[in-house]
Amino acid sequence: MLTSQLFWRIFAIYAGLTLCTAFAFALTLTAGYRDLAYPQVEARQIDNAQILLPQLRKIPADDRWDFLRTINSTSETRFEVLTLDQARQKANAEPELADALAHRIGTSRRPNANALFQFYAIEFEAHGETLILRMTTPLDSVTENLSWISARLWATAFTLVLIGLIVTYVMVARIIQPLDRLTHAAEQMALGESPKGLNFDSQNEIGTLARTLRNMDRQLAQRFSELEKQSQELEEKHEQLATVLRSMIEGVIAVDRSEQILFANDTVFQLLDVQPQSFMRRPIWEAVRHPQVQKIVQAALSGQPSERVEFDVARTQRTLAMVASPLPGEPATGAVLVLHDVTDLRRLENLRREFVSNVSHELKTPLTSISAYAETLLNGAMEDEETCRTFLQRIEEQAERLNKLIADLIALARLDSIEQAFELEPVNATYILQKSIDEHQGVAKSKQIELISVAPNEEMEVIADSDGFQTIIDNLLDNALNYTPSGGRVTVRWRLEGEWSRIDVEDTGVGIPREHQARIFERFYRVDKARSREVGGTGLGLSIVKHLCQVFGGSIRVTSQVGSGSQFTVLLKNGQNSNGQTWM
Ligand code: ADP
Repeated sequence: MLTSQLFWRIFAIYAGLTLCTAFAFALTLTAGYRDLAYPQVEARQIDNAQILLPQLRKIPADDRWDFLRTINSTSETRFEVLTLDQARQKANAEPELADALAHRIGTSRRPNANALFQFYAIEFEAHGETLILRMTTPLDSVTENLSWISARLWATAFTLVLIGLIVTYVMVARIIQPLDRLTHAAEQMALGESPKGLNFDSQNEIGTLARTLRNMDRQLAQRFSELEKQSQELEEKHEQLATVLRSMIEGVIAVDRSEQILFANDTVFQLLDVQPQSFMRRPIWEAVRHPQVQKIVQAALSGQPSERVEFDVARTQRTLAMVASPLPGEPATGAVLVLHDVTDLRRLENLRREFVSNVSHELKTPLTSISAYAETLLNGAMEDEETCRTFLQRIEEQAERLNKLIADLIALARLDSIEQAFELEPVNATYILQKSIDEHQGVAKSKQIELISVAPNEEMEVIADSDGFQTIIDNLLDNALNYTPSGGRVTVRWRLEGEWSRIDVEDTGVGIPREHQARIFERFYRVDKARSREVGGTGLGLSIVKHLCQVFGGSIRVTSQVGSGSQFTVLLKNGQNSNGQTWM
């Protein structure tokens, strides 16, 4: 409390007031006594003059001195009679004489030889002579009384001041102390602590204030705990949301009303191939430079319902779809942009479209030929037996082509519905390879191509489906023989390579230009369409082979040089584990 400004201010005011009152009291009383005491002395002198003057007028001049001496000997006041001449001589220094000379009566109070005196002078006539009676009364006793009284008064005033100060201190302290505690409590509340010392129960304003503060504290504590709970819930929700956003395969961007990027999850940075620091806090039109994106963001910000746009990211060569939706508010407080990678979807769509158009085209060619031959036959060519035979042969060829095409398509369809269609097991590769080579020897001979095998002594097993494995080998051998001119050679090699069984089908044929090598495994892809048709190819063989290899958990690759030949290498899992036991 001793540090309380308010306390000292109020205390100073009260103390000042007490001091002033005591001073005023002492001063007023002292002055009052003085104003009463001096006129009383003067009044006594006038009374004395009234008694003395008739006697002085009567006594003969010669007895006057004795008379005065007698009186003077018994009285404190000194009486003297002066002639006008005497009076005039002294008038300069003694103003009561000057006044008496001028106005018959003169008074004065002045010190004389270190003591204060009251003088009274009056003019009178005696025996035809004008004289002046002067009385000189010492004021010693009055002055003594005055200083005694004023000493008592000051002592009283001092005591009163002291009592006043103590009372003031106690009173002010009684008012300020609770205020001080209330202030302290309010400060504690402001700091979020629970206030102490609010236990007044008086019925006055302080008590009411303390009770109000206590209520306020209770309510605040309640509000705080509610807020804390809410903020905890919010934090949990925020954490959940952050986890969801982090694990999303879609990119999520939030922009504010001025199109500034406020938030983006990690997927966004991957999809757009950007660095987070160069992306955040920038306007979206600067971060994603695409007019369509800008358009839908602006549409969303103007409150229009979600719009979708697709755009390509040149750097990653990916196609992204973006949906922009407005955030709630009128006008919208911002927008949320969701990014999907639709590259694979678009590629699949293109593939499907391409496939359908390829299939229709491939089917149409033999069908057109068949109907053309049939029409020509019906229009009279039938009459000529030779022509008829040729045309029917062509029809048969085309029908065979159709048959092969449809068989390949069925095989592909079967592959598309994969795993269930195959039961993978160790397959005797040596047997199937040998069988396939034997079956192709006839064609090889007719084309004067040497077809040989280079094989290890022991048998080799691969993890595959036996029909599927045979399809792989047959297709590779068909191709090798088809694209190798007569006089060439086709070599089939197989051996174990660690966990893998490696099969190479090598020819000395036309070879495949480098730029086509990666694409020959695509459906209907052919380096030379005319040649493929000529040899009865469908353009599906290698895509079936590649698909089968993948289903069997293996791979296929090609190395080739135009003019000198090609080598297809198939790697499949070895059917025997390192202990030589059969794989199950
Ligand atoms: P096709 O039925 O046309 O042979 P494939 O899918 O089996 O279809 O082969 C695709 C294309 O790859 C062929 O059209 C051909 O151009 C090329 N090709 C495949 N095997 C060979 C090979 N051994 N030598 C040269 N080119 C080949």
